[in-house]
Amino acid sequence: MPELPEVETVRRGLENLAVGWKISTASNHHPRLLKESSIAPLESVSGARIESAQRRGKFLWLVLNRPEVLVAHLGMSGQFLFHESDKPRAKHARATFHITKGLRRRELVFNDQRTFGWLSVEQCVEGIPSSVQHIAPDPFEAGFDREIVIANIRKRKVSIKTALLNQEIMSGVGNIYADESLWRAKVHPEIEASSMNSARIRSVIDCAIDVMAEAIKQGGTSFDDMYINVNGESGFFEQSLNAYGREGEPCERCGTPIRRIAFANRSSHFCPKCQRK
Ligand SMILES: [Zn+2]
Repeated sequence: MPELPEVETVRRGLENLAVGWKISTASNHHPRLLKESSIAPLESVSGARIESAQRRGKFLWLVLNRPEVLVAHLGMSGQFLFHESDKPRAKHARATFHITKGLRRRELVFNDQRTFGWLSVEQCVEGIPSSVQHIAPDPFEAGFDREIVIANIRKRKVSIKTALLNQEIMSGVGNIYADESLWRAKVHPEIEASSMNSARIRSVIDCAIDVMAEAIKQGGTSFDDMYINVNGESGFFEQSLNAYGREGEPCERCGTPIRRIAFANRSSHFCPKCQRK
């Protein structure tokens, strides 16, 4: 599932390949593609010029030369693919945008095998689309305040992992980077957030920022010029993971086998020696 670093890689790709281009046509190929709250059909963005590609947490949006923005959420498997128009359409194409710049033409396809991703046409309030209003700033935004986030986490009577995943406290961290951040900070995922002191929470957040920054750095060079691909389960950062998906493999720090325990409908991965309760 794409998390902040993967979504940022897609944003950078869109910035390089689509900003400054005009959407000549937009076509919706799937009945569940458009979010219910969309204020207009997808086709309504035809004729707009793409001014910039923005992101908060895992939400992406294209700013257009009109008041509305086009918001995208990749869900589990959403991808943006750039196509040469003469190639066959991607297998799970949910939307196609023909974009032009002068005489140049490109096809931008939103491809989504598992259909949890969506697009929507929205209005912005203070630069943030309506469906993103309830999402807290992510750590790479200018408005991010680490001390407010620490104070907020300390109030929660939930596990530190649950607090890290709460997009209304800090956005961008999903299951993979939560496990990686806690491993790096040597904090057990089930420790209650309100029982931790500020320094310990600060260290978890700093580890989350570091691990995501490293993943962005790797992702920034992983796509080629005409193809922006995000595949959640087998992401480009996978080789660098220390906890997530490594059940039974030795901890990189101490050699103890990584353990996997149930967490909500998913799993938590941690080192039972480095990350004590
Ligand atoms: Zn260990």
